[in-house]
Amino acid sequence: MEFKRSWAEPYKMKMVELLKMSTKTQRVKAIRKAGYNTFLLRSEDVYIDLLTDSGTSAMSDRQWAGMMTGDEAYAGSRNYYHLEAAVREFYGYKYLIPTHQGRGAENILSKILIKPGDVIPGNMYFTTTRLHQELAGGMFADVIIDEAHDPLNEHPFKGNVDLNKLDNLVKKHGAGKIPYVSIATNVNMAGGQPISMQNLRELRAYTQKHGIRIIHDMTRVAENAYFIQQREEGFQKKSIREIVKEICSYTDGATMSAKKDALVNIGGFMATNEWEVFEEARNLVVVFEGLHTYGGLAGRDMEAMAIGIAESLDDNHQHARVGQVEYLGQQMESFGIPIVKPIGGHGIFVDAKAFLPHLSQDEFPAQTLAAEIYIDSGVRTMERGIVSAGRDAQGRNYYPKLELVRFTIPRRVYTQAHMDVIAESAAAVFEKRKKIKGLKMVYEPRYLRFFQARFEKLR
Ligand SMILES: *Cc1c(COP(=O)(O)O)cnc(C)c1O
Repeated sequence: MEFKRSWAEPYKMKMVELLKMSTKTQRVKAIRKAGYNTFLLRSEDVYIDLLTDSGTSAMSDRQWAGMMTGDEAYAGSRNYYHLEAAVREFYGYKYLIPTHQGRGAENILSKILIKPGDVIPGNMYFTTTRLHQELAGGMFADVIIDEAHDPLNEHPFKGNVDLNKLDNLVKKHGAGKIPYVSIATNVNMAGGQPISMQNLRELRAYTQKHGIRIIHDMTRVAENAYFIQQREEGFQKKSIREIVKEICSYTDGATMSAKKDALVNIGGFMATNEWEVFEEARNLVVVFEGLHTYGGLAGRDMEAMAIGIAESLDDNHQHARVGQVEYLGQQMESFGIPIVKPIGGHGIFVDAKAFLPHLSQDEFPAQTLAAEIYIDSGVRTMERGIVSAGRDAQGRNYYPKLELVRFTIPRRVYTQAHMDVIAESAAAVFEKRKKIKGLKMVYEPRYLRFFQARFEKLR
């Protein structure tokens, strides 16, 4: 008999963390106290934590062993050189600046490359990336293909750049005003959607013609490589390692949050192939992070990162990683829950506009849904909609097309039975969706408001 073989984890467990189970009454109290913002819940009050896949991975025994070999010297730590060697070997970038996490790298890179009045095209914005571009005086311009903004469109590479949109920007502002194109692999805000190698090659040819750099937000490059291997012609027999190396080869530098694909709890870096940019970064990192051979990290963190980078590029690891996310998505679909398609690499994105069509965007449908799911089961998700989108420089709300609740799956942490509990909880809330009321914002911080904003239930 022919049947599709299941994915399974290429590891076994030898340590577990016990979880606190809560009652619905306790959860109703906890979410009210948290201002209906899942970021403000205590993690102790959470059963299954899908807030983010950032820094929440389970490290391997090899990574933990690496932690014990931390060389905690102020300068020139052995672990820094291991990390530098890993970045060169697996990604191919020449120069490395470690940073405490991705946004540390974004800060330094934006300060070096962006002048006031510059325009930075990108394949959809990311919160911290765009903010650092704006703080450096630049303006972000979205050049992702239109399909990426349609949660039902099944385009296999929704992370692709629309070269016509880019060309229009170049014609309008001139290449001199565009220091680089900001390319994210496996675009987070589009639902964990990949960019194709073909698109990257065309983008490279175009930008070379105009003398524009490509800077790679490589936070999820391994997951992107997995999708290229599965979906793009000519890559089925290539390893994830080979694909990742090729992706990086079309770019001039990168920022990395190693808390995602690279399987560490803290860490990141900036990388570049340009000596002048490296020199400048080496100067700036001392101001904002620490000396250029530790960048805000302990030696042991850099060692765990070097090992995690190698593990993240293992074909079996990615197959199980993305397989688990797909499994959850299929369970949700079987309950009729509207999700972003195709299923992405790091989580399931539920379409809150379709889930709660009776709420206007000003009643925060995604924020509301995330709170309801927590109340139902103690599963913690997060909003990716109008709250996350924030306000523009003139103080006007951005109204993003997508209003999503993100169920982000930490790497190597939860089991298939956990996935069932999550899908069942979403289904239970879906059953009573018509009775759900929206929220009003009662406290709004100035920057990245989704982290600390507070809400009250509308009556
Ligand atoms: C998480 C993330 C960042 C920022 O990294 P931090 O480590 O959280 O500072 C940047 N870009 C993308 C795509 C991310 O997912």
